[in-house]
Amino acid sequence: MAVIIDGKKASGEILRFLQLMVADIKLKHNIAPTLAVILVGDDPASKVYVSKKEEMAKKIGFNSLMINLPDGTGQKEIAEKIEELNQDDEVNAILVQLPLPDYLDSHALINGISPMKDVDGFTPYNFGLLATGKESVVPCTALGIMKLLEEYNIQLAGKNVTIVGRSNIVGKPLAHLMMAKNATVTVAHSKTENLKEHTLNADILVCATGKKHLITSDMVKEGAVVIDVGITRGEDGKLAGDVDYENVKEKASFITPVPGGVGPMTIAMLAYNTYKLFAIQKAFPEGSK
Ligand code: NAD
Repeated sequence: MAVIIDGKKASGEILRFLQLMVADIKLKHNIAPTLAVILVGDDPASKVYVSKKEEMAKKIGFNSLMINLPDGTGQKEIAEKIEELNQDDEVNAILVQLPLPDYLDSHALINGISPMKDVDGFTPYNFGLLATGKESVVPCTALGIMKLLEEYNIQLAGKNVTIVGRSNIVGKPLAHLMMAKNATVTVAHSKTENLKEHTLNADILVCATGKKHLITSDMVKEGAVVIDVGITRGEDGKLAGDVDYENVKEKASFITPVPGGVGPMTIAMLAYNTYKLFAIQKAFPEGSK
């Protein structure tokens, strides 16, 4: 039976630490980090994610600037809004909620965010730093997974890691972070042949596909660490991960639940990155957590 990795607890500790840092700075300097979030359209899932981010910002003591633009807002208008936020000294961190409606060029809009305010670490500049092993702002979910592994003392050096899913948001940045920690990383995806062969080889298996219960216990090595990033909502309204949790937990050494595993860490890392950008811009000490 696996140790259940408690993302709620780990994220709670990070958020409390940041809350204290922010309160201290507010007291001494009367300023607080400002996170700006742009949401275009009314996709229900995106609205939920944005409201969770706003809730987190308030809890930590950040200023939050929520910009809701209606579906149909033009590329140019959004790009101008981003540029306005880039130029605004009061704004420390900018997030464009993805996915954007199909008619927009997401890449161009993300590329318009100043790398100094790129809280998601999605700009080519920050991604390039990450890929070359340099200090950068790291995408929140990938960073959250690294923090969880650290928290549970799970070593990466020399380990075989298989990441299922190659998105720019999760799989690709995580592969770079894990390579930098000397893991041997395989990235599988929808066109991978013999997926099971790759998952069975993994000492650490990360799954980020959004395919409910894609990973069954026969695909997992005895004693593997299993990190489940996927979130799907079943017809019963319940959230499920990519991993057949009930059966895989009997075989794994560590496992993240859905919900309560990686999800809360993503939010905590958004807070961490917001504070980090603010600290760099204002030359305050960075959080150590
Ligand atoms: P995405 O759609 O951009 O990427 C999915 C990836 O899975 C692709 O690389 C695809 O090739 C791969 N894939 C799909 N079907 C596969 C299969 N049958 N076998 C092997 N690979 C397959 O998605 P994303 O944005 O990376 O998100 C993935 C999942 O993680 C979603 O469920 C999303 O909701 C969730 N997510 C959770 C968090 C969190 O905080 N917990 C954060 C980001 C994403």
